[in-house]
Amino acid sequence: MSDLARAAAIVAESKRIAVLSGAGISTESGIPDFRGPNGVWTRNPTAERLSNIQAYVSDPELRQRSWQLRASHTAWDAKPNAGHKALVELEKSGRLLAILTQNIDGLHQRAGNSAELVVELHGTMFDTVCLSCDDRRTMRAALDRVAGGEADPPCLVCGGILKSATISFGQPLDAEVIARAQDVARSCDLMLAVGSSLTVQPAAGLVGQAARAGATVVVCNGSETPYDGLATVVLRDPLGEVLPALI
Ligand code: NAD
Repeated sequence: MSDLARAAAIVAESKRIAVLSGAGISTESGIPDFRGPNGVWTRNPTAERLSNIQAYVSDPELRQRSWQLRASHTAWDAKPNAGHKALVELEKSGRLLAILTQNIDGLHQRAGNSAELVVELHGTMFDTVCLSCDDRRTMRAALDRVAGGEADPPCLVCGGILKSATISFGQPLDAEVIARAQDVARSCDLMLAVGSSLTVQPAAGLVGQAARAGATVVVCNGSETPYDGLATVVLRDPLGEVLPALI
């Protein structure tokens, strides 16, 4: 039996499926990942600084650059691909516990998965949050201010520094969000890890938690991950082919 057929049999038998997704599921929608062969950081290692909270808070020029990058982000026009759509079919089958996503691009919801079943571990790029008073608004409203000439728009409530409502390196995850994700990891019978290098904690650790609680693990990722050893099957083909074939 091929690895794909073995993995498909596991998916067919499983009743409580958790999906942990990463940037790799969105590359076929035109959004580059960080660490894949064409990843943003693979091509330009200094870009990593843009995702660091200390650098963001202390460097006004970096913030100005961040606003420009948000305005031109490929996710604004990206469309869900066959991989995202396969996960909608999984939800329709009634066996999807939740999608625990590290992505900030909203493509699972845009594909048609229920928002209540998508746990955004690292937040969303479509909102802003004030780092001082937590005031939350839409990214579109902030980008309109940028287009109107405010290179680094301050919070309209308290004047604090605004940032996309995403988790940068050096920022803790939302406690409720990670608690829910851990519940899902502990109660699934299959953990399907898709399109993630599984190098960012605590998200990647959800795979280990699921395995310790007795779940079967299947890893679908183009390159090696530190959790491949826990997986019953590892698939390396592109997710736009693998996920429709599995589900
Ligand atoms: P990563 O960049 O570390 O790893 C992505 C993995 O996906 C790589 O190992 C790559 O080999 C694999 N991959 C790429 N395209 C693939 C395909 N078509 N089929 C199969 N595998 C493929 O991404 P990560 O593990 O998600 O961690 C990076 C962090 O970056 C996350 O915290 C996430 O929030 C953020 N991020 C998000 C987006 C997004 O929202 N789309 C994009 C870039 C980065």
